[in-house]
Amino acid sequence: MQLAFAPELKAFRAEAADWLDDQLSGPFKALRGRTSQMDMVEERRAWEAALGAARWSVVGWPEQWGGRGASIAQQVIFAEEYARAKAPPRVGHLGVELLGPTLLALGSEEQKTRFLPDIAHGRAIWCQGYSEPGAGSDLANVKTKARLESHRYIIDGQKIWTSMGMIADWCFVVARTEPGSVGNKGLSFLLVPMDQAGVTPRPIRQMTGEAEFAEVFFDGAEALAIDRIGAEGDGWKVAMALLGFERGVSTLAQQMHFRNELDDIIAAAKANGKAIDPLIRQRIAHAHAGLKIMRYSSLRMLSDEAGLSGAAYSYKLYWSQWHKALGELAMDVLGQSGEIGISEERFDALTSMYLMSRSDTIYAGTDQIQRNIISERGLGLPREPRGQ
Ligand SMILES: Cc1cc2nc3c(=O)[nH]c(=O)nc-3n(C[C@H](O)[C@H](O)[C@H](O)COP(=O)(O)OP(=O)(O)OC[C@H]3O[C@@H](n4cnc5c(N)ncnc54)[C@H](O)[C@@H]3O)c2cc1C
Repeated sequence: MQLAFAPELKAFRAEAADWLDDQLSGPFKALRGRTSQMDMVEERRAWEAALGAARWSVVGWPEQWGGRGASIAQQVIFAEEYARAKAPPRVGHLGVELLGPTLLALGSEEQKTRFLPDIAHGRAIWCQGYSEPGAGSDLANVKTKARLESHRYIIDGQKIWTSMGMIADWCFVVARTEPGSVGNKGLSFLLVPMDQAGVTPRPIRQMTGEAEFAEVFFDGAEALAIDRIGAEGDGWKVAMALLGFERGVSTLAQQMHFRNELDDIIAAAKANGKAIDPLIRQRIAHAHAGLKIMRYSSLRMLSDEAGLSGAAYSYKLYWSQWHKALGELAMDVLGQSGEIGISEERFDALTSMYLMSRSDTIYAGTDQIQRNIISERGLGLPREPRGQ
């Protein structure tokens, strides 16, 4: 179990911190401290490009593909410094954290050459086309169809809750390529350009006021056959491998954001006098302890040589509930002032955090699904009856 970083990693940390500070005090000053996912899109694309040019975009990838071949410890350090510098959420994160690692593991050399440099240099923003109106927790119920005609797939169907769907250049889509197949058989994993007549994204406005996600309609949309990852009909395997990348070093960066949020709550409580309320103090101390538990738990997961094990499922359950409680704490500290928006479309950062935290127990697998997985895979309980 590794609970601390080796001293020789100090230089790496300093290099990352210096670069981030230079950029976020200089050309990208306006992005420092931005918590929204979707505003200032052009500046964020430029930020992705700057990270790529300095080889800070995909530090864990091999150098050949724009990374630094960084060790897990170095990746964690960069992620921590990124959050400490209050750098903005990455518009490229679905490419950087999900599709890129999937291509590295399962893509052909040609696919790597075609797609990885554009992800690393922020030239292509990706979105994830998994969920459908009838396929969320039950993802295997995907109905979107794709049929092969000559060298391309023709796609018809609908995706929903597609984060970044309004600004993405590409979408990785799970589609049914074997007519009449059911469940996780007969699916394929296709890479689909968004800028074409057959693709229509429509924004879904959330209670934060933003439209971070969209519903995406495919009506005769096209994808090249060579842009399918894995064999035809093997889409489930690829889709599941991709989800495995969802819980990696980014957990440590996320905790640094949580730390920033907790610090903001403490500052607000000191400023408005709530800091002397014994119940608020207890909840703040409890949140602090939870953060420590998450940190040690992530370091333990990341230093497990067997890779991310079942601990990742309990971890998702833990952090999502912890963060939801943090949102509630923020609102209780802010009191009525937390209910006033900055504008019709925006609240201040802590109120937005509270509203957004309501979704933490839904995306990347709902709490109920995590508990099912823990009981079945971790505790060996019988599988729940399906289709009832
Ligand atoms: C902020 C956010 C961003 C998202 N981004 C994306 C994205 O980019 N791409 C994408 O494809 N999807 C995305 N999603 C969708 C997300 O993956 C789904 O919302 C999630 O999988 C749940 O599916 P659902 O909404 O259809 O709910 P359902 O699956 O219909 O679930 C409804 C309720 O029933 C419970 N339930 C369902 N099945 C079971 C069961 N077997 N046992 C016990 N309880 C069960 C669930 O836990 C939940 O409480 C996003 C969601 C959110 C909130």
